[in-house]
Amino acid sequence: MALVIDGKAIAAEVRNEIKIKVSERIAAGKRTPGLAILLVGDDPASQSYVGGKGKACAELGVYSVIERRPENTSEEEVLSIINEWNRTPEIDGILVQLPLPKHIDENKVILSISPDKDVDGFHPQSFGRLVIGIPGFVPCTPAGIVELLVRSQIPLKGKHVVVLGRSNIVGKPIANLLYQKNPRANAVVTICHTAAPDFRVYTRQADILIAAAGVPLLIKADDVKEGVTVIDVGINRVDDPSASKGYKIVGDVDYESVFPKAYAITPVPGGVGPMTIAMLLNNTLKSIEMSENQ
Ligand code: NAD
Repeated sequence: MALVIDGKAIAAEVRNEIKIKVSERIAAGKRTPGLAILLVGDDPASQSYVGGKGKACAELGVYSVIERRPENTSEEEVLSIINEWNRTPEIDGILVQLPLPKHIDENKVILSISPDKDVDGFHPQSFGRLVIGIPGFVPCTPAGIVELLVRSQIPLKGKHVVVLGRSNIVGKPIANLLYQKNPRANAVVTICHTAAPDFRVYTRQADILIAAAGVPLLIKADDVKEGVTVIDVGINRVDDPSASKGYKIVGDVDYESVFPKAYAITPVPGGVGPMTIAMLLNNTLKSIEMSENQ
């Protein structure tokens, strides 16, 4: 029987720890952390993510500002909102919900966020710190994956981690985190991507498989070895006429078939997903603490 890594429960634990720290700050007469979120356009998934982030801030006592702008907002206006937030002392973290409309240069926007408020961890300065292995903002989904592994006591030292996917928000940062020489990492990491003639050559060698390909149910039982730990990052909508919404969410891993072979596995939903918002709030708290220690 595989251990089911319960992301909901672990995220609730992390959120509770943050809530305690925030209330201790307030009791000590200190300022509460502040998070500013910009949403451009009306993509339903983005709307729902932003709603979830705002709600989590309220629950944890974190101050939040959410700016919603229409699809046709100019790049100039987006940059000016960020500039304003960069200078606002009550705001410790700035998050621009991605993807942005096509007429806005995403890289330019990411670069405009002050590295001191980069709670999404997408600024090159944050990524550089992560690669070198010095403190900084770690992107939320990869940070959440590390928490899931560490809190589930999955050994990492010397283990072979195979990461499927090389995106800037998941694949690259999680791979770079897990080979670092520290007690929460120290694994041997392989990154596999679309240029691999056959990804199975790699996934079958994994002690820990991190699937972040964005392809529904790509990984089957034959693609992994006995005793593997599987972290399924995928959030994919597939048609399901029996569901009230007409679709359901599945991961990149065929959970039913892989489960009997696995040592541990994350479900979708309820695995990596809930960790992402928890780590965003953790980064916001980290930001205010770092600014006080400067
Ligand atoms: P992406 O599309 O930017 O990157 C996918 C990567 O997978 C690419 O680098 C590609 O090379 C690789 N890939 C795709 N098919 C492959 C194959 N057959 N063999 C080998 N490599 C392959 O996606 P992303 O933004 O990294 O997200 C990946 C998945 O994770 C998506 O389903 C996304 O919705 C989900 N996601 C979840 C969370 C969360 O909070 N749980 C956060 C971010 C992304």
